[in-house]
Amino acid sequence: MSNCYLIVIGGGAAGIFAALRAKKCNPDARVLLLEKTAVLLAKVRISGGGRCNVTHSCFDPKELTSHYPRGNKELLGPFHRFGPKDTIEWFQGKGITLKTEKDGRIFPATDSSETIIQCLLGEAKRLNVEIGLRQKIQTIEKTEEGFCIHLKEGESLHCKKLLLATGSSSQGYEWAKQLGHTIQKPLPSLFTFNVPTSPLKELSGISATDCELHLKGTSFRQRGPVLITHFGFSGPAVIKLSAWAAPYLFEKGYKADLIINWMPGSTPLPKRLMKKLKQDLHADCFRIEGKTTHREEFVTCGGVTLNEINFKTMESKICPGLYFAGEILNIDGVTGGFNFQNAWTTGFLAGS
Ligand SMILES: Cc1cc2nc3c(=O)[nH]c(=O)nc-3n(C[C@H](O)[C@H](O)[C@H](O)COP(=O)(O)OP(=O)(O)OC[C@H]3O[C@@H](n4cnc5c(N)ncnc54)[C@H](O)[C@@H]3O)c2cc1C
Repeated sequence: MSNCYLIVIGGGAAGIFAALRAKKCNPDARVLLLEKTAVLLAKVRISGGGRCNVTHSCFDPKELTSHYPRGNKELLGPFHRFGPKDTIEWFQGKGITLKTEKDGRIFPATDSSETIIQCLLGEAKRLNVEIGLRQKIQTIEKTEEGFCIHLKEGESLHCKKLLLATGSSSQGYEWAKQLGHTIQKPLPSLFTFNVPTSPLKELSGISATDCELHLKGTSFRQRGPVLITHFGFSGPAVIKLSAWAAPYLFEKGYKADLIINWMPGSTPLPKRLMKKLKQDLHADCFRIEGKTTHREEFVTCGGVTLNEINFKTMESKICPGLYFAGEILNIDGVTGGFNFQNAWTTGFLAGS
């Protein structure tokens, strides 16, 4: 039997960052992180095409929240307390050089996610965060003093405070439910549109830099670059639209009419595309019939219901001593470093 001040379940960006913060705030307290797999920070490793888009150079909290289809209202206060500037300072303070790309995305100067992983793991070691890998948790029990974690091997761990940072794992949602929370249905976000009948497929690879997209019959709109692919449409404006409309598109079985205004401004179109577009340039209609995962970054929308959480501390309003951070919450951002920023921010607050 083992006693801890804090047990963190989940060794992703949010869980590790929270554990580091907790140990920094309470150096003498025992902080134990339990991870079910054999590796920590697996998603950080594959993130941003192996480069890890750590955050985004958007420093106004209000503007920053506009990049979160879910969680924008709740994240405003947290971003005032720990925003992208703090993330940058945190990593720079550990000797990591970051660089900002033209579109505002921030990466380690090495262009390698390994830099971020080694930094976080080095800190965990330095601060003496205890880490248990391949941990199979059977049940979580609420006790008078806090929580009792029953492991499959028969051991029980006791803690005063418990943080669930299990990302989009169904087990994490299940524990949250057992401890009194409600879960918004987990659904995929950040995907591209399949348009099997698209007459533009032969132009696969061509981008139009300024288009306005609109899902017919809805208020979902986005403006930005569109990439023509061999299965339909991709590109920043499409991925963003998929995030904002994720629950709607799920409900419609990923079938909808996409209206594209190819030239909402004065940016000229690529010649081959211009030639091919026979219909109205300003209201071209395409039938979406399915989605494809955007391999560079995808997230789950849905998760722990936000009004059940105190966003000053990330503590549950329902179960005292229970905290949440990261993707387990019903928060998701568009691509560009916003999802990690959510993990750093909520992890920081939960660990504080
Ligand atoms: C391919 C890809 C690329 C991405 N690139 C970017 C990017 O460049 N920038 C960006 O901002 N976002 C990116 N994202 C999104 C980002 O990775 C996530 O938003 C972020 O990792 C969420 O962190 P988290 O700690 O909440 O969850 P996770 O990273 O999912 O971590 C959860 C951890 O909990 C563990 N766990 C789950 N269940 C249990 C259990 N029962 N017991 C113990 N442990 C458990 C998991 O094994 C995992 O280690 C990307 C996502 C993907 C899939």
